[in-house]
Amino acid sequence: MKSTGRIYRSKVFTVEEIPVEVSWKSVRNLNLRLGRDGRMCATVPRVATVAAVRNFLENHLLWMRKVLARSGQRQGIPAMPRTVEGEQITFFGQEYRLHIVEGREVGLSFLAGTAVLTVRPESTDDARSALLKAASRKLLQQAVEAHLPYVEHQTGLSSSSWYIRDMKTLWGSCNVNAKRICLNLRLVQMPLPCLDAVIAHELVHTKIRNHGRDFYAMLSAVWPKWREAMDVLNGKARNS
Ligand SMILES: [Zn+2]
Repeated sequence: MKSTGRIYRSKVFTVEEIPVEVSWKSVRNLNLRLGRDGRMCATVPRVATVAAVRNFLENHLLWMRKVLARSGQRQGIPAMPRTVEGEQITFFGQEYRLHIVEGREVGLSFLAGTAVLTVRPESTDDARSALLKAASRKLLQQAVEAHLPYVEHQTGLSSSSWYIRDMKTLWGSCNVNAKRICLNLRLVQMPLPCLDAVIAHELVHTKIRNHGRDFYAMLSAVWPKWREAMDVLNGKARNS
């Protein structure tokens, strides 16, 4: 059985947009691997300097890209939809056809299976994309405002603040010291139980920084449904 060992120090390095969780432990060698939740993790000897670690990670950039490209986790994060007429677009697991109309009152509304995006006449493609993104952000914001207090209550954990960011590789992240949670804008496409599970995951990080056994034990205790949601988020199960 593999011993997890004491972590003396940990820090998240960002190597060309790839976050890597580095833990200093009583080990001989630097070791890099893909963690269970799709993040890169490294363990390094206690004596390793920040410069040495950074150098090691930079030397493995191509390897990390290859591993991440192969992993289901990253493939599970959908691209933002294109702002074109007839595009299939998903909000909270519900599919819609995008219909673009021109008008004064810009914004997004829903009519049966259609998502109607009202744009200013003769607006550019970029302006339309920005409009759709802003509307998506607003929808997710409303969902988080409604769901975060519930998940906090259920788990008994709390964050100090949260924000939304469009990310390609992570569903969420947590600034452990500040207890600040970041949620991926693309969660707007996923069923709401996925949002809850990501919030629960990040809330557990306010107590436990790394993804060790303790972390998953706590997550399973406070949010037992996290695995099902993870399968949906990883693209292994689409309908739930
Ligand atoms: Zn995590």
